[in-house]
Amino acid sequence: MAAPEPGTRGAEPFLPPEVQDEALRCVRCGFCLQSCPTYRQTGIETASPRGRIAVILALAEGRLSPGPEAAGPLDLCLGCRACEVACPSGIRYGWLLESARAALEPAVAPRRPWPVRLGRRLGFALVARPRWLRGLAALLAATQKTGLLRAAAALLPRHLREMALALPPAPTPALRRQWRRLLEPLPGGQGWRIPAVGTRRYRVGFFPGCVMDALFLSVNLATVRVLAATGCEVVIPAGAGCCGALHVHAGLREEGIALARQNAAAFARVGPLDAVIQNAGGCGAHVQEYGRLLAGTPEAEAGAALARLSRDLSRWLVEVGLGAARLGPVPGKVTYQPSCHLENGQGVRAEPRQLLRAIPGLELVEMADADRCCGSAGIYNLTQPAMAMALLDEKMARVRATGAETVVVTNPGCHLQMLAGVHRAGLAGRVRVRHLAEVLAGALAAGNGAGA
Ligand code: SF4
Ligand code: SF4
Repeated sequence: MAAPEPGTRGAEPFLPPEVQDEALRCVRCGFCLQSCPTYRQTGIETASPRGRIAVILALAEGRLSPGPEAAGPLDLCLGCRACEVACPSGIRYGWLLESARAALEPAVAPRRPWPVRLGRRLGFALVARPRWLRGLAALLAATQKTGLLRAAAALLPRHLREMALALPPAPTPALRRQWRRLLEPLPGGQGWRIPAVGTRRYRVGFFPGCVMDALFLSVNLATVRVLAATGCEVVIPAGAGCCGALHVHAGLREEGIALARQNAAAFARVGPLDAVIQNAGGCGAHVQEYGRLLAGTPEAEAGAALARLSRDLSRWLVEVGLGAARLGPVPGKVTYQPSCHLENGQGVRAEPRQLLRAIPGLELVEMADADRCCGSAGIYNLTQPAMAMALLDEKMARVRATGAETVVVTNPGCHLQMLAGVHRAGLAGRVRVRHLAEVLAGALAAGNGAGA
């Protein structure tokens, strides 16, 4: 039997024709180049959106074989989608990247060194299983308490050591109990609810996520308190968990689809909702793609409905207002580090800033190039540490220049990266990192809105 042509899998084209068509729409104008963090760092064409689209097109047309030569430029891409916003032709770069990575995965996976293969397998399996993640968080809490983490971190390379030492305190059993006390079971084991404070204005779903639930439970707690205080009954369906964004962005499309199906079915079971609220920019952007991702599956309709209902917390609050709740004073100076996927994927730019400016006593100082990626980008800071740390150092210089004592974030990946940045820049003890929900919960508590 004849060997398949490069760029094909037997008779099948290597990439679907619609991917090729989309890549062909790039007119090579270069308007996207300066928006691209990796191009700005390197000045190399293959580290630019235009260069990467050329690589994807070459793969689609069979001029380039699937392998390291094609994977390298795509691996160095943050997937931040800043290029999408800059592109006058409206190229859907995020979708092109996702499609190319999924097609390349079978060819590149066996060539990764075995520790990387094992790490990826374990990592992706973990985030898909909330109980395992919670168990790991409990282990982390124990190692933080006993000092074992500090001792073990000393053996790690610098960037991993900084990330390990900058991890937030893992949720304590007391915090988990506090969370569980808030939840009232829904009939038939469908999930849980948190009643609205005062008159119920809306019934909303809440996406607990994976890393948020395991590591940033305090952010989830703050989020549901803000929602309840502003007149929302909050529903958390049983079976809702990791959105699958990390999997799909890393080329593990089938795993991502399985998680999306599970979430779509879970939210469909809990009855009518006015919205489904996210507090993670990356997860929200991904859930809003569920309609496309689940097309042709039994959950296609439920996925499309969930995508339509999905709202970032900040967008939702600006849309519906705070009801009877009032924001009280939170004195201090903050700067805002936007999540790339919240801005470039969901188009949510003004809302977090609007909410921060509405808090009495809080001064928002914009940092230069706030919209440039911090280098977190899912697992990018683990797979591409040199570029991730170069971008982080640049970001921390911008943070320092604002004189802010708090960096406000809207995504767990950015949260972890900024914590590492604070540590790396020697700003520990002087600069805090807080999620927008935590700041809002504090302001609602200060305004006697029962927000915290
Ligand atoms: S701005 Fe758009 S059309 Fe122009 S080179 Fe970049 S991706 Fe291609
Ligand atoms: S997604 Fe970000 S890193 Fe990748 S090409 Fe676009 S701007 Fe550059």
